[in-house]
Amino acid sequence: MFDVLVIGAGHAGCEAAAAAARRGARVGLVTFRSEDIGQMSCNPSIGGVGKGHLVRELDVFDGLMARAADRAVIHRRMLNRSKGPAVQGPRFQADRKLYRAAMAQLMAESGVEIIVAEATSMRTDGGRLTGLETSGGTLDCRALVIATGTFLDARIFVGEEIREGGRRGEQASVALGQQVREIGLAQGRLKTGTPPRLDGRTIDWSKLEPQPSDQDAWTMSALDDGCRIPQLACAVGRTNARTHEIISSNFDRSPLFAGAIEGRGPRYCPSIEDKVRRFADRDGHQIFLEPEGLDDHLVYPNGISTSLPADVQLDFVRSVEGLERVEIVRPGYAVEYEFVDPRRLRWTLEARDLEGLFLAGQINGTTGYEEAAAQGLAAGLNAAAHARDLEPVTFDRRTSYIGVMIDDLTLQGVSEPYRMMTARAEYRLALRADNATTRLGAAVLEAGCVSELRHMAITEHFERRSSQDWSSTGEGQADALYAPYVERQEREWAAVQRDTRVAIPPALDFASVPGISTEMAERLEAARPETLDQASRIRGVSPAALSALYVAASRRAA
Ligand SMILES: Cc1cc2nc3c(=O)[nH]c(=O)nc-3n(C[C@H](O)[C@H](O)[C@H](O)COP(=O)(O)OP(=O)(O)OC[C@H]3O[C@@H](n4cnc5c(N)ncnc54)[C@H](O)[C@@H]3O)c2cc1C
Repeated sequence: MFDVLVIGAGHAGCEAAAAAARRGARVGLVTFRSEDIGQMSCNPSIGGVGKGHLVRELDVFDGLMARAADRAVIHRRMLNRSKGPAVQGPRFQADRKLYRAAMAQLMAESGVEIIVAEATSMRTDGGRLTGLETSGGTLDCRALVIATGTFLDARIFVGEEIREGGRRGEQASVALGQQVREIGLAQGRLKTGTPPRLDGRTIDWSKLEPQPSDQDAWTMSALDDGCRIPQLACAVGRTNARTHEIISSNFDRSPLFAGAIEGRGPRYCPSIEDKVRRFADRDGHQIFLEPEGLDDHLVYPNGISTSLPADVQLDFVRSVEGLERVEIVRPGYAVEYEFVDPRRLRWTLEARDLEGLFLAGQINGTTGYEEAAAQGLAAGLNAAAHARDLEPVTFDRRTSYIGVMIDDLTLQGVSEPYRMMTARAEYRLALRADNATTRLGAAVLEAGCVSELRHMAITEHFERRSSQDWSSTGEGQADALYAPYVERQEREWAAVQRDTRVAIPPALDFASVPGISTEMAERLEAARPETLDQASRIRGVSPAALSALYVAASRRAA
């Protein structure tokens, strides 16, 4: 009997499995292929603005992503360096193979059992999860985390060519997708895409603007293991009128516009055909040319993801200055997949209707490795709590970006792939990438989910904070800079404390509450807030509905 089983060894699955193991659970990780551990489906980069904040938060909980990234970094960039510390975003370009190797090693050290098989269906008994059917047999468990990413009933598109698959060269998760649909968890389909991979030896780098790595070798993880590998330069190119002409004259061959793809793509990471259509007046779009590794000729052209046919991809790429003689090693493609309505989940990422089932990652309507990994952490910690009767670990939007994301997902749901940005956090001046240990250290120690080394690092961090010379540290100076704003925010939090204490009974029938309209009742029913504070953040729920809800909840409590 496993305490926790996890399906999928992607970013969400690895973090979930390792986090559950850190809380003392016996964990099995079921995955199609063992070489998929830590596989980056798209861009080999970790972090960025908002995303980098998530990685630093994960790190405080001894998550794996920051440490794996530190062992694989070939290009560092602190984004927004010229702006205030609150919106600076640590971003790494990783050596794809080294990242995978680092993640595989961290997983091997985690105590998680890797089970190579296809997970085909969940076993349940009276509204409770009891086990998992796999291609290799039945496994019993107390809790299950589904972290199947872009694989649920997925299809891949390259121009007119459509095939089943969750990632290039890999199968889709069809049987599990069917069950997720049958039990009513699936909400619809989303899509994402990736650019062609280029042979770096055929690029004329002299015609492109170089982008060197940062001089100072800062780390993602607060536990700097001292590992430093050589750094490479990236470069910036630009599409032009000719590129746009080639793309627009082939719109009819794009599955995006020909109607083959129904799912919505990420608004903040659109395909190049989408950009050319939506921003027809723009004379060019940037392309960041990012090497994929130290001993690899592949280059990732960030900014031109596409599902146009391969011949069109070659034509338009070669129209870019510096890429006139470039060879495409693998064409870009789009993938469309099934996702789950995250409003069906509690704050712990447990499904409301099926006890013991947790969901994490792209399956919940997000996009990005960091978003997936951060949900994996939350789901893994709480799946272990469920299985071992421990205290759940919840994240608050006032103290973490992980809290912002889980709050947004479970209360608002998604209609397009959700990506983290600092603009999503109303308390962003307090949520900096450099103060994750300060914000979350106490919660981490309480959850009891970290190594002795981390425990010591957190304790020492708090000791340093109360020392005389704290004000001369980078974090201390940023604290002073934002102090007046943060104090104002703290007063605002205090004002909503009443609402966080007003619990909404789980069985409350919103439609029967006097003063709540049918429309408001539907919004509340979809999100099923657990407190009045959560209800206040559901888009479109009016102050009048909140007052009615307050009265109803207080009466029930009396
Ligand atoms: C083509 C493509 C383009 C993308 N483009 C972008 C982008 O531009 N920007 C961006 O931020 N993100 C992009 N992504 C998304 C990014 O890859 C994901 O956000 C991230 O990988 C999600 O992590 P995850 O852990 O949820 O799932 P994944 O990393 O997808 O991992 C899922 C794992 O589950 C396994 N699995 C699935 N079903 C089963 C089963 N039934 N049994 C056993 N194992 C199973 C798979 O083998 C895989 O290892 C792209 C992904 C793809 C495929």
